[in-house]
Amino acid sequence: VQKMNNQGGKGAQSKDAKGRNYDKPWLAPEKKEPQTFLEFCYPDGVGPDADLIQMLERDVLDKNPQVQFDDIAELDETKNLLQEAVLLPILMPQFFKGIRRPWKGILMFGPPGTGKTMLAKAVATQGKTTFFNVSASSLASKWKGEAEKLVRILFEMARFYGPSTIFFDEVDALAGSRGGGEHESSRRVKAELLIQMDGVSTASSASANEAQDDTEAKKNVMVLAATNRPWDLDEAIRRRLEKRIYIPLPTEKGREELFKINLKNIELDADIDWNKLVEITDGYSGADISNVCRDAAMMPMRRKLQSASFSIANIQKIQSEIDIPLTMVDFMEAIKNIQKSVSKDQLKDYSEWMKMFGSV
Ligand code: ADP
Repeated sequence: VQKMNNQGGKGAQSKDAKGRNYDKPWLAPEKKEPQTFLEFCYPDGVGPDADLIQMLERDVLDKNPQVQFDDIAELDETKNLLQEAVLLPILMPQFFKGIRRPWKGILMFGPPGTGKTMLAKAVATQGKTTFFNVSASSLASKWKGEAEKLVRILFEMARFYGPSTIFFDEVDALAGSRGGGEHESSRRVKAELLIQMDGVSTASSASANEAQDDTEAKKNVMVLAATNRPWDLDEAIRRRLEKRIYIPLPTEKGREELFKINLKNIELDADIDWNKLVEITDGYSGADISNVCRDAAMMPMRRKLQSASFSIANIQKIQSEIDIPLTMVDFMEAIKNIQKSVSKDQLKDYSEWMKMFGSV
C-alpha cells in the first residue's frame, strides 16, 4: 500500500477536516489512504476485531529489527541461503516464477540460543521488509480460542504492509503434532496456517500482467520459522516449510567471533588467552557466550561491592575503580558460573532429525 502524506504541502490549508476542497468545491473530497492496517479495516478505529489488530500492530509488528548479518557469528552458508531464498524472491519476483518459484517457507532448527531469531531479523533488516515477530507460544496461549482468526489477520496484515517477513518463533507451539486427542481449535489453527502458506507462494506467480505484478510484489510475504523441537512439528506444516536448515552450536572459529562481537566496546587486559577461552567453552551456545561476557563484565564491580572499602557514600569515586579492563580471571570466573545449556544427547537428536528431514 502506498503511503501518502496528505497533511503537508501547499493545498493543505484550503481543505477542511473531511478533505473537501474550498478552492474547487466541485472536486470530490480527496480520499486519504489508510496508514495502518487498523485504519484500512476500520476507518473509525472500531470494529469487532479491532483489539486483535491492535495487539498485532503493538506486539508482533517489529518496526525496527536493526540486526545486520555482520552482527551474527559464522553461519555464512545460512546467511547466503537466506538471502537467496528469502530476499531475492521479494526483491525480484519476476525471476522467481515457475520452476524457480520461491520456497513456501523456511525452517531453522537447532538448539536454543544459536542465532535463529537474529538471522530472521537480519533478513528483514537487509531486505527492508516489514518484520512480524510471532512468538508462537505466547500467542497460542493468549488467544487460544481465536488463534485461527489471528493467523488469518496476521497474513492479511503482512500483505497490507508488504513486502513482509513473518517469523514464527517456536513454531511447534502453534503447529505441533499431537495424535488422536488433538484439540479441535488447534487443528483449525493448523488448517488456516496451511491455507495461508499455500496462498503466499502463489501470490507472485498468479498475476497476469506486469503492472499487476508490481503491486502483487509489494504484497509479497515470506514465511520463516524456528524451533528447538523439530520432531514435534506437525507433518503437513513441516512439508510446507520446504527448506529446513540446521543451525548448530558454534564451532571454535564461531566462538572466537562471538567473544569479539560481544566485547566490541569493552576494554580488555592484554593477559587474555583467547585460545584457552575458545577451548573451554566447547559446547556453549551463542547465548551462553553472551552470558559469559556479560557476567565477566560485571566482575570488577562485584569484587568492589564485596570489598571492605565499599560504601554507598563514596559511590562516585567507585565508578572509576570498577570501569577497568577485564582480565582472564574475570572470564574464568564467569565460565565457572555459567554452564552450557545444551546437552550432548540433545545434539544427537538434532543430527538424527537433520538426516531424516533436513536440507543440505
Ligand atoms: P535462538 O533464536 O536461536 O534461540 P537468538 O537468535 O535469540 O537465539 O540468540 C539469543 C542471543 O544469543 C542473541 O541475542 C545473541 O546475544 C546471542 N547469539 C546467539 N547466536 C549468536 C550468533 N551466531 N552471533 C551472535 N550472537 C549470537
